[in-house]
Amino acid sequence: MTQAYPIIIDGKSETTAAHIDVINPANGQVFALCPAATSADLDRAVDAARLAFPLWAGKPDAERKAAVNTLADILEANISELAELITREQGKPMGGLGSQWEVGGAAAWTRFTAGLDLPVEYIQDDDKGRVAMHRKPIGVVASITPWNFPVMIAIWHIMPALRAGNTVVLKPSPYTPIATLRMVELMQEALPPGVLNAVAGPDEIGQAISAHPGIDKIVFTGSTRTGKHVMASAANSLKRLTLELGGNDAAILLPDVTLDEATIEKIFWGAFLNNGQVCAAIKRLYVHDSIYDELCDKLVAYAAGVKIGDGMSADSQLGTIQNKMQFERVKSLVETARNSGARILCGGAPIEGDGLFYPITLLADVQEGMAIVDEEQFGPALPIIRYTDIDEAIGRANDNPNGLGGSVWSSSPDKAVAIASQLECGTVWINSHAMVRPDAPFGGVKQSGIGVEFGTLGLAEFTTVQVIHQ
Ligand code: NAD
Repeated sequence: MTQAYPIIIDGKSETTAAHIDVINPANGQVFALCPAATSADLDRAVDAARLAFPLWAGKPDAERKAAVNTLADILEANISELAELITREQGKPMGGLGSQWEVGGAAAWTRFTAGLDLPVEYIQDDDKGRVAMHRKPIGVVASITPWNFPVMIAIWHIMPALRAGNTVVLKPSPYTPIATLRMVELMQEALPPGVLNAVAGPDEIGQAISAHPGIDKIVFTGSTRTGKHVMASAANSLKRLTLELGGNDAAILLPDVTLDEATIEKIFWGAFLNNGQVCAAIKRLYVHDSIYDELCDKLVAYAAGVKIGDGMSADSQLGTIQNKMQFERVKSLVETARNSGARILCGGAPIEGDGLFYPITLLADVQEGMAIVDEEQFGPALPIIRYTDIDEAIGRANDNPNGLGGSVWSSSPDKAVAIASQLECGTVWINSHAMVRPDAPFGGVKQSGIGVEFGTLGLAEFTTVQVIHQ
């Protein structure tokens, strides 16, 4: 029988009356049942979090630090189980840059976050007086997560929230709720009841969270469209917000870049990690005319050696697109580009079968005005755009409402840094892409988001400032 997973409220796992099918995208079969929480369940989860807040916030800092370290231990001890659940619901491979890597990374991120501190800052401290800035937890934080890295992104939300003394109500994507719910269940042994709750269900539960008067802050990762809805309904009670939204990252290859094997490999995985279902993947590749054909040939050759298959097979390097809607979107973006004159260098049509397998697709002779360039494709199809003048390329890269990441590729670091500073995005990598790290703030400008995650700046987003003048 298909296993039904519970919601977790006030330390207890509860079954719900209704469920949503969770499909394994590798074979189209129902693999588990997601609990369909009601708005009454959400109210109870918020109540439990509110009740637990004063106790958790009032604990000595060292105790919360120790608890977050124990959560890292729990993740480490359960990598195999959680990774298998991610692969079955999300479609990514177990090995390589897949689900074991995701859970291992989540554990490392948790441990790093445990070690962060926000000490009191003294603005004045002399014989005339003392002005001290304290950081206080906000209250109940709601976390709403997407389907591309279900466990990792939940960790990015939960850990700084807990570390700073808040309590949490988490809502995973209905496409990929299972590993997250199981993780929250496992974590209960290290936390007092009500400190970390999880409800799952349809998108309406996300809407109810955004408008809920008992929630003080929302940390949301997902599409820009949904982020705008969250922001609008959060205005009602002036909730604090961190929004990590969509990206359409441009990578600019200068004529002096060396197209050796290592560089081609980095460009490829910068675009195709997790099948391109990464907020800060390379989504537009701007290549100077003098190296355009060489780059295209080398990327096609590299792509030919990458194995696509069921994530449970040891030799798969890439799995599926996660859901049918996204699959249809990628398919349609590629078809529309082809009909507008794009040259398909490889891939270009779905792989036959029951799973949502789509081949690595490289598109040449594309430009702005085509939806695959202007919009976020969030899938395994990369437009390769030709340019001749670097200032013009910078302008084209910036002429987009998104501003998450970007990269510059060159053998001259000074030249690359000068161009990086002209790009309108929250992060620029030189000769790499999408390499986030727990100590470097990460967030979007323009319509890619509000606020940052990671490091002490990211932790500070889960606090309010109180200044004491004496
Ligand atoms: P989505 O916006 O459809 O859904 C995200 C979450 O919001 C889900 O849990 C969903 O149930 C919930 N939701 C849906 N409607 C809601 C509403 N009206 N109010 C509140 N919550 C609601 O996004 P997705 O398709 O799951 O994820 C893909 C998107 O996420 C891409 O655009 C990608 O770029 C973005 N993303 C951004 C980052 C980042 O850090 N910037 C990271 C990963 C993904």
